[in-house]
Amino acid sequence: MRPFGYAEPATLTEAVEALAAGGPGTRVLAGGTTLYDLMKLGVERPAAVVDVHRLAELAGFDTAGPDELLFGAGALMADVAEDVVLRRDYPALAESLSKAASPQVRNRATVGGNLLQRTRCGYFRGGPPFPCNKRRPGSGCAARDGLDRGHAVLGTSDACRAAYPGDWAVALLAFDAELDLLGPRGARTIPLAALHREPGDTPQRDHNLAGDELVVRIRVPATATGRGSVYHKVRDRESYAFALVSVAAAVRLDHHGTVRDCRIALGGLATRPWRAHAAEQTLLDRPLTVDTAEEAGQAALAGARPGTHNGYKVALGVRTVADALHAAGRRAAA
Ligand code: SF4
Repeated sequence: MRPFGYAEPATLTEAVEALAAGGPGTRVLAGGTTLYDLMKLGVERPAAVVDVHRLAELAGFDTAGPDELLFGAGALMADVAEDVVLRRDYPALAESLSKAASPQVRNRATVGGNLLQRTRCGYFRGGPPFPCNKRRPGSGCAARDGLDRGHAVLGTSDACRAAYPGDWAVALLAFDAELDLLGPRGARTIPLAALHREPGDTPQRDHNLAGDELVVRIRVPATATGRGSVYHKVRDRESYAFALVSVAAAVRLDHHGTVRDCRIALGGLATRPWRAHAAEQTLLDRPLTVDTAEEAGQAALAGARPGTHNGYKVALGVRTVADALHAAGRRAAA
């Protein structure tokens, strides 16, 4: 085992100070369900970790407010997934958590840390002798001529095609979530849409957080559209598996059945949580039918660039979008 420093700050301010003092080799430790994994694999080799999992300022969540839902970054996935208000008024958010990982992991992992999990690309996690631009910049991409069955078809680059593995961020993206951040230069709020990066020429950078910034809170604007929402997750087995394709869909219908609001976000298909704005536009002010749902699915996958073994994801993505829209429509009409 490689030795590393450990700090357990008592306050958020102390945590930010410890991160800034530690420098680039310092990592935040929350639930530890990703970081410890990656440390064992040698992907992460932090000089020090700052343990924030007991910080009261990060704990708790509130789904009762009239204007927004608030989730402390340290709230546990299991607790948020079971929230009665969330399950009733924003089922896509609750389902994205309850379909993630395993009960053991959900009882430990936090909703803030979950946003920052890294790809499950086997070459990235397996390490040498495989080249991997995300793990060792400039070394190449073993997936280009290798096994890419689980890889992305949207947002890829020549440098990397690894799929973003999470569910919660996909559902949050459909609801225009924002993040409150804190660092040594102060607090700022960013749209969740600005957090994750497409790989481009720098696949080693998954997100736009500074190394000394913490996610403090997730905000979700309240919307009546939440009740007509669903999170569909297609995977190799029905539990404890990452998405091959996932779709967060939400619709609001008027009393004629015409779509007045529509949100579609994709997981398992893209290098980052992927909002399908063009697909949403195809449905607005139209009835939700077999044909219009299929059309939206086609629009969502229009830019897909499959590799050697993941062409199936295009057709599966189209069908999953359509199916999720129908399920969301049934909830909206209930
Ligand atoms: Fe590495 Fe990305 Fe290629 Fe996977 S797809 S081997 S993470 S560069």
